[in-house]
Amino acid sequence: MALFSKFIAKLRGGTLASADWEELETHLIESDLGAHLTQEIIEAAKGIAKRGEGNKEAGDQIEAALLAALRAKLSQAPRQVKEPDPAGDSLTTIVVVGVNGTGKTTSVAKLMKFFNDQRSTVIVAAADTFRAAAIDQIQTWGERLGVTVVAGKAEGDPAAVAFDGAKRAIAEHAQIFIVDTAGRLHTKSGLMDELGKIRRVIEKVTPVDEVLLVVDATTGQNGIAQAKLFSESVAVTGLILTKMDGSAKGGIALAIEASMGIPVKFIGTGESAGDMQTFDPESYLRGLI
Ligand code: GDP
Ligand code: GDP
Ligand code: MG
Repeated sequence: MALFSKFIAKLRGGTLASADWEELETHLIESDLGAHLTQEIIEAAKGIAKRGEGNKEAGDQIEAALLAALRAKLSQAPRQVKEPDPAGDSLTTIVVVGVNGTGKTTSVAKLMKFFNDQRSTVIVAAADTFRAAAIDQIQTWGERLGVTVVAGKAEGDPAAVAFDGAKRAIAEHAQIFIVDTAGRLHTKSGLMDELGKIRRVIEKVTPVDEVLLVVDATTGQNGIAQAKLFSESVAVTGLILTKMDGSAKGGIALAIEASMGIPVKFIGTGESAGDMQTFDPESYLRGLI
């Protein structure tokens, strides 16, 4: 992940040759930062390098300045999902959306475990009614994790399942209500409308606090483009970046936040329910440097 370590080491040692700048640029592009953000960061880094030139104590300042330049690219929106109320009087409702195969259902399982471990009562709605296997998949996770999953018939109305789930969550004084949805392409307006309907129907019962968009980090710039268009159609409040355990490059979280202004809230790092972490921007940035 350490995108800038070599570069900083060289800066500490003296000035940089143009080949070094080119190498850094190539490296940043290959790390999924994208062409635009790479240019911005190179410009910022050049300014920082100029100020630091000939200054032996500049090493730490260079690091701090680069850290600040990168930090400025991150989303300013809150990263934490609304805290479960220990008294159980308020419900946090999370709708999980995204294109096919990005890891939505697995992420719902991870969220189940995450909140279950905090001793919250969790209810899940299996609103991917498109395939019977999708309902089985989430029910199996529910059994394994001891979480109630509200499901309907395969090919039934997903909004109806979400509605039943919301009513159940209220009736059982749950703290967390999570809705799994079918994969859909942002280009299919009928399916995007269906998400709007799911939301409206839930909101007859309880407000939707979070719409979390699941993005597969290994799809790189493509994933960013998908996410961009997707977030234009639904009010996405945060991202779950999955498959960060695979070949995903370190720059993608920053690239997504810089281009969309939507905060990454969770990082998926495997196929098990425990393979998820909340996204900590400071340790992420330190990792880059
Ligand atoms: P959905 O179609 O978006 O609901 O995707 P699924 O949750 O069914 O996941 C699709 C595939 O990706 C499955 O094989 C998951 O085990 C896998 N997967 C999901 N999240 C991760 C992750 O963070 N890391 C890895 N390595 N695989 C994941
Ligand atoms: P195509 O393969 O590009 O023609 O796309 P499909 O029409 O098969 O749909 C792509 C994906 O969108 C499917 O895998 C489903 O996850 C989702 N999808 C399609 N139609 C529906 C629908 O009527 N309801 C829901 N919930 N999801 C759908
Ligand atoms: Mg799924």
